[in-house]
Formats: sequence, structure tokens, C-alpha cells
Amino acid sequence: MSRRYNFCAGPAALPTEVLEQAQQDLLDWQGRGLSVMEMSHRSDEFQGIARQAQEDLCELLSIPDQYHCLFVQGGATAQFSAVPLNLMGLTGKADYLNTGLWSSKAIEEARRFGEVNLVADGQPASYCSLAPIEQWRFSEAADYFHYTPNETIGGFELNEIPEVPSAPLVADMSSTLLSRPLDVSRFGLIYAGAQKNIGPAGLTLVLVREDLLDRALAVVPRTLHYRLIADHHSMLNTPPTYGWYLAGLVFQWLKREGGLGVMAERNRRKADKLYAAIDGSGFYANPVEPQYRSRMNVPFTLADGTLNDAFLEGAEESGLLNLRGHRSVGGMRASLYNAVPEAAVDALVGYMNEFERRYG
Ligand code: PMP
Repeated sequence: MSRRYNFCAGPAALPTEVLEQAQQDLLDWQGRGLSVMEMSHRSDEFQGIARQAQEDLCELLSIPDQYHCLFVQGGATAQFSAVPLNLMGLTGKADYLNTGLWSSKAIEEARRFGEVNLVADGQPASYCSLAPIEQWRFSEAADYFHYTPNETIGGFELNEIPEVPSAPLVADMSSTLLSRPLDVSRFGLIYAGAQKNIGPAGLTLVLVREDLLDRALAVVPRTLHYRLIADHHSMLNTPPTYGWYLAGLVFQWLKREGGLGVMAERNRRKADKLYAAIDGSGFYANPVEPQYRSRMNVPFTLADGTLNDAFLEGAEESGLLNLRGHRSVGGMRASLYNAVPEAAVDALVGYMNEFERRYG
């Protein structure tokens, strides 16, 4: 077997054990003589898979009873529309925080449906810093506050859940959900595309508090309507069954590994090692103000940008895949999701040191 270390930002590395289990189940799931991909979503078999995944997710995140876990399609991008469509029904206004390219896309979409108040904007600081919360400008009345705790592209993260007057709190957790324990009760709604820490692309998780299901705008398409989706247990139409099943395998893997506390420790160690290598080098640099550095996505540049291709080629030859930074920012980016082992970071740091000795 020749699996290499994969630092892709998403779709990202999945645990090898999970893929092996999927391989074992592929043709014949638990002696039923068919694949999960070939099952009716209404079948007892799939209903069992779906229920187990939901229960495991609730256990991992200690999700309180008054929340619905929706397993939907459309990616986090569909949620950029679904959130305002479902939640802007009271004042027609919402507060948004702009910390990077993903928040700005959420903002752009929300503006199509209502009034968006920009609470604070990291763009003038190239998304590497942000005004302190005391300076954020909240609306008098807003239907919700939206932010992106971890910006996958810029590697900008808000470590603390902000204490904001606008409620409820809504978060795009695409690249951070399940990377550490989380107090779900602080949020009205959390959404995340699966293709980082959860499972394959095509599945999106939405955790939404019961009292937020009844303030939708009249025009919400049925496929985005939280109340309808919740009432139909995410089976209003055919759900992404295979992604749901694979996410279930990931949840079981997380439980076997010891849960989100263990993930948090591992992820902290991985990120610390990589940032230490960057900061200690004089050859590599990360532009984000240290208090906002992401534990999941670590962008970095080389002192001489003309060496980027040589760096990437050498990395690939060393079995280190997908280190090219997002096309909008350039440079490198290493994503350190749960399924990226510590050994991968050790190998990356070793390679970076060697490259610096040769070219630095
Ligand atoms: N938000 C964040 C934080 C993301 O990282 C991404 C994808 N990388 C998206 C939204 C968009 O997700 P999707 O492509 O699943 O719509």
C-alpha cells in the first residue's frame, strides 16, 4: 500500500481505517449482499446506519436535546443562502464578521436576501489581524450573528467563541468542526461541509436549535428549509447516503481514538510543531497575527517565491501531497485535519529543514 501524506485543504485526508472499512463493506455490507450505495434511503438497513451516525455525532459533540442534526447536500455554499433564507424572517437584518474569503462569500450571498451589517472587517489587514471585539459595531437589532471560526484559505482562526449581543450565534465550521470539543449550546446554528474532518464531499452537516426553525422567509426552497428537513429527519428527498455512511465510520473512528479531547491535543501538537518550524527558520513565514493562527490550516511562504515550484516538486517526491496554497493567496498551505497523523507533520518539518539547508 502506498498512501502518502495528504495536506489537502479539502476534500481532505480520511483515516485509513475508515477507507479500509468502506473497502471491506463495498460490495457486500454486513452480509446483505449489496453496497450502501445501492440501498434505499428508506430501507431498515440505511435507517440504522443514519440513526447510528446521528447518535455518534451527538455523543462526540455532546449536542443538547433541543438541537436537530441535519445531513444535507449543497455544501457550505448552499448554507450561505439557507442561513439568511431561514433566519432573516424577523428584522430582515443580520450581523456578519468578515475574517476572510469564506466569510466574505457568506456576506455576499446574505446581501441578496436582506440587510447585512458588517460588524468588523479583517480585509484591510489582509485577513491577518482583526479589531478587538470592543470595537465591533453591532446592530441595534439583528436576526443573527454570523462568523467563520476558522478561515480555511487564510489560516485565520478565532479561538474563543465571541460574546456578542446579537443572537443567535451562527457559525460556518466547515474546517474546524470535530477538531476539538465544542460547546454547541453557545450557538443557534452551526454548519459544515463534510470534506475536511467529517467525511467525503457531498454531505453537509447543519446543527440547528429547535426555536430557530420557524422564522423562515416565505420563498425558501423546500430543499433548504430547515423546518421541513428536520421534520423529515433529513429525508425530505434522497439524502447523500454514502457520505452519511462514511461520516458515520469517521464518527466511530473518532470515538475509538478517544474523542474530541484527544483530537484537540493531537491537533495542538501538530500545529505547534509546524509553526515553530516556520518561525524558527528565517526562510519560511506565516503572516497571521499569532493569536489568530489556525490549528487546522497553516499557510506559509518561502523567502524566495521563485522556489515555490521546486519546493512543491520536492515535497511530492518525498510523499508530501497537496501543499500548494490557495490560488487567491499563493505560497503554501498545510492542512492538519484529524486524519493527518503527527508523523506527517514530522515528515513535512524534516523536508522543510532540508529544503532550507539546500536553498536558504
Ligand atoms: N466555508 C469554509 C470555511 C470552507 O472551507 C469552504 C470550502 N473549503 C466552504 C465554506 C465552501 O464549501 P463547499 O465547497 O462545500 O460549498
